[in-house]
Amino acid sequence: MNNTFRAQCNCGQLVVSFTQAPVAQLVCHCRDCQTVSGMPYAKAAFFRAEEQCAQGEFLAVDMTGGSGKPKQYRRCSQCNDFVYATVDALTGLLGVAADKLLPPFEFNPMAHVWTSEKAPETEIPAGVFQFPKAPPFRPGK
Ligand SMILES: [Zn+2]
Ligand SMILES: [Zn+2]
Repeated sequence: MNNTFRAQCNCGQLVVSFTQAPVAQLVCHCRDCQTVSGMPYAKAAFFRAEEQCAQGEFLAVDMTGGSGKPKQYRRCSQCNDFVYATVDALTGLLGVAADKLLPPFEFNPMAHVWTSEKAPETEIPAGVFQFPKAPPFRPGK
C-alpha cells in the first residue's frame, strides 16, 4: 500500500489510508468523542473516503451526531483502539483520529468544535476559532 496518508491502530490490524490530504482538521470537545477516545477531546482529520481506504476488522460504536443523524465510531476488533469514525451528516468523509496518523501528516487544526461540552480542565489556546457546537461549515464544501 503506497497511499500517502495512513493511520493504524496499536496492533496494526485496522488501517485507513488515503491518497489525498485531509479536507478539514478539527479538535472536537463533544462528550461522545471524550467517551470513545478516552481523552478530554479528540483530534480529528477528515479525509474524503476512497475505495478500500479502510482495511481490517472493526467494532462499531453507534452514536447520534449533533445533527441528529447517526455516526459510528470504529475501533480495532483486536486491540480496541479507536481509529476512525463515519458521520452520516458528513457523507463521503471519514473522520480519522489524528493521533493515529503517521508522518507526513501533521495535525494543524482549523477550529475547536463543541466547546459547549468541553471538559472543564481543558484550555483552548488563544486566537483559535471556536464553535460551541458543530462548525457552521461542512468540511470539504
Ligand atoms: Zn488493533
Ligand atoms: Zn466529537
